[in-house]
Amino acid sequence: MPELRKDPVIGRWVIIATERSKRPNEYRNMTAAPVVEHRFCPFCPGNEDKTPPEIMAYRADGKPNTSGWHVRVVPNKFPALRIEGGLNREGEGIYDKMNGVGAHEVIIETPDHKQTLSTMTGKQIEEVLWSFRDRVLDLKKDKRFRFILIFKNHGESAGASLEHAHSQVIALPIVPRNVIEELQGAKEYYNYKERCIFCDIVRQELSSKVRLVSENDHYVCITPYAARFPFETAILPKNHDPYFEDSQKYEFEALSRILCETLKRQDKALNNPDYNFLIHSSPVNSKYQDDDYYHWHLEIMPRLTNVAGFERGTGFYINPTPPEEAAKFLREVEIVH
Ligand SMILES: [Zn+2]
Ligand SMILES: [Zn+2]
Repeated sequence: MPELRKDPVIGRWVIIATERSKRPNEYRNMTAAPVVEHRFCPFCPGNEDKTPPEIMAYRADGKPNTSGWHVRVVPNKFPALRIEGGLNREGEGIYDKMNGVGAHEVIIETPDHKQTLSTMTGKQIEEVLWSFRDRVLDLKKDKRFRFILIFKNHGESAGASLEHAHSQVIALPIVPRNVIEELQGAKEYYNYKERCIFCDIVRQELSSKVRLVSENDHYVCITPYAARFPFETAILPKNHDPYFEDSQKYEFEALSRILCETLKRQDKALNNPDYNFLIHSSPVNSKYQDDDYYHWHLEIMPRLTNVAGFERGTGFYINPTPPEEAAKFLREVEIVH
């Protein structure tokens, strides 16, 4: 069973992954490991028996765990957290820990090994968004879970171990500190101004346009004013909405367009960089849940710089490209729809 341990000074939880543990001497060879090209892909159609049995799939016809699907969701074969068991919160002297209970799933975004989110059709991306929604709606029924994160690691330097396009969902029994900080900041602003800070950001960025990358009827894509990383972008709904999973069909249609367009701009501007994206949506089953001041958003971070000693030591980042310049560069990229 993995273990969740709380830092006694700052209250940050970490997962001590007992089951996927590496022996101390295994790290020595990691940097030297060659990249194996054309290795066997368990996510390709025909290899359905090489993943754990599917949780869900969209398919025109055919039986579960056979080919014919267009989006397929399976448990992570090497989960960071385990779905079974109680939380068993306990102390260990001055320290706090609990069982690493949670869900860790993989969303295989396409049957086509060569496609990526930036080359897929809008329709296929919309299907991927529907699968995100369906998994969140299902997982939030489990009252043990407080926060559900959807994220993507694209490319080896962003943490992807398999090339085939996929994203992941993790349901956690605690609300992470990063999210609590966002929630508290948003709450303070709301208490003071009685407005959602994210709604205000959307309004200001739409009127000033200096950090605006693109917009459509329902979403904006901006470079955040205090972006941590060069070419970091954020996509936000124009209308106030705390929960990603409450999005409607017309919204997913518009979201798939702006997401695809943003990734295409990023690919063209930066020559297909590795990247991470994540969806911050309101916590579930939690005292932190609040519909008035939290506003879901998607953050995209291309992997262009390394987090080094200064960032690790201070928690603040040096971003070598002003967000205004990044937005202009991304805006001016010519993309084919
Ligand atoms: Zn594949
Ligand atoms: Zn809002």
